[in-house]
Amino acid sequence: MYRTIFALAASAMIAATPASARTAKYIFYFIGDGMGPNHVALAEYYHGTMADSLGTQPLGFSQWPVATLASTYSESSRVTDSAASGTALATGTKTVNGSIGMAADLTTPLKSIAYRAQETGKRIGIASSVGITHATPAAFYGHTASRNSYGELAKQLAATGFDYFGGPDFYYSNPSDTAGIYKYATERGYTITRSIDDFERLAPSAKQMILLQPLETTAILGATLPYAIDRKPGDMTLRDITEAGIDFLTRDGKADENGFFFMVEGGNIDWEAHGNDAASIIHEVSDFDDAISAAYNFYLTHPDETLIVVTADHETGSLNLSTGGYKLNLGVLANQRVSESEMSRVLNNLRRANNGIITWEMAQKALADNFGFFTDAVKLSEAQTERLKTAFTKSFGDNPEVVVSEYRTDYPLSAEAKKIINEIALVGWGSGDHSATYVPVFAIGAGSENFTSRTDNAEIARKIAAAGGFPIND
Ligand SMILES: [Zn+2]
Repeated sequence: MYRTIFALAASAMIAATPASARTAKYIFYFIGDGMGPNHVALAEYYHGTMADSLGTQPLGFSQWPVATLASTYSESSRVTDSAASGTALATGTKTVNGSIGMAADLTTPLKSIAYRAQETGKRIGIASSVGITHATPAAFYGHTASRNSYGELAKQLAATGFDYFGGPDFYYSNPSDTAGIYKYATERGYTITRSIDDFERLAPSAKQMILLQPLETTAILGATLPYAIDRKPGDMTLRDITEAGIDFLTRDGKADENGFFFMVEGGNIDWEAHGNDAASIIHEVSDFDDAISAAYNFYLTHPDETLIVVTADHETGSLNLSTGGYKLNLGVLANQRVSESEMSRVLNNLRRANNGIITWEMAQKALADNFGFFTDAVKLSEAQTERLKTAFTKSFGDNPEVVVSEYRTDYPLSAEAKKIINEIALVGWGSGDHSATYVPVFAIGAGSENFTSRTDNAEIARKIAAAGGFPIND
């Protein structure tokens, strides 16, 4: 019996050999920053809930034929940061937390698979929903002992010769302190565009392209795209940036001979998870899926030559789905219409429009409009209402306080509203930091058969390089 099964398995392996030998000419590498398995499950259970099902409504990428788990520990901690894990995912070698493209000795530069792909003649694209000098994208081109060396990373970016960069902006940029960076990149051959219309107008004559969002948006939000939950018509999206990248990399048949390597990061997932904002994460993971579907459409036209890998650099927030009672009440999250950050802006605008004064009644109305509180949609207990009143006083009383998380500074009232709706949804958070939870890996196309067993972040880079025909041998 066992022998028969073994023989069958062996013959199946032989039959599968030609498929395994396929080289991935076109490679997409999607990294959902902070996207642990529960972030994916949260989105899928939520969509299932909205479709009146007790089960899940799967995203696109989670239905692909290949899926596994990866460990993400770094050389300095079981709990990695995005710099160390980005470096492992980009170079195939682990390093210490905080280091970008440098080995654990902090002096030996590591070569990313983007550079290796470039050496084989592939066109290269790097994109993110957060700053293009932030840790994950930077790990694919940069070499700095500290991830915070943003000025240096911007210079290294401009020196890569990579074909396409897309994202909201350079990280920690504002019009005054980054004017030099824009000029520096332009002098090195990059065309910088700030809208999809401009991109389409300038792409035919551009040698290399950096697509950023309008300066006005960066001035309000910093170097992040508007969170998906807060998006307004006309805002640039990660899908726009991904589609523009595919368009630019394949333009004029330039990828016909050697193909391309395109890394796209869903960076906002991590930012929302640091803030423990479940509703915003649902929108962000779904938005990431939407960007991935642009790559999937490309795959459908080149199925034998395209590899798409979707993974994460680590889990963020120690997210858990049910705080007890064999229940999960995700439907309530449909009442949250803005992120915690946007709620702070709403409150601020109300205050400004009313000569600097905001009353509890005004705040209640804003909470009704944006969280469904004080309406029939979301029933609050007396204790929860009291907590909101206390947070209101902390926000706008005589000694105002703020709540600070990794990427946010908010009014205590916005933070408390988000916390309460998470509690009602029975979604729990272990921390506002990263965790050592294994992350999911999904793959489809040429070389995806290499991702069928349990893996590790550094190994993913090696598998992708092998699939692309530029194996990492050192
Ligand atoms: Zn993070």
